[in-house]
Amino acid sequence: VNVDEYLALNKYEVDEESAHIELAEDQDPAEFDKLIMVCPAALYKRDEDGNVSFDYAGCLECGTCRIICGDTIIKKWENPGPTMGVEYRFG
Ligand code: SF4
Repeated sequence: VNVDEYLALNKYEVDEESAHIELAEDQDPAEFDKLIMVCPAALYKRDEDGNVSFDYAGCLECGTCRIICGDTIIKKWENPGPTMGVEYRFG
């Protein structure tokens, strides 16, 4: 079993009305690239044209992005509300 298969076991209750992570408007590309490398759920992305994107819906709530870049990119990082967020199905 590889990591992707383990991640697929998780269940997510996405809070559509309130993102628990919000990014700043102006993002230092070098800082963003750090997030692309460290996020275990691969939620920070850069496409072939250099456009960046982020989707909080599959967040594992590990906090790594918050530690890596502090407030240089992330302007809000909170735990999802009660019953929201990831529910681990393995381990
Ligand atoms: Fe990715 Fe972890 Fe940050 Fe969620 S908390 S976006 S899983 S690095």
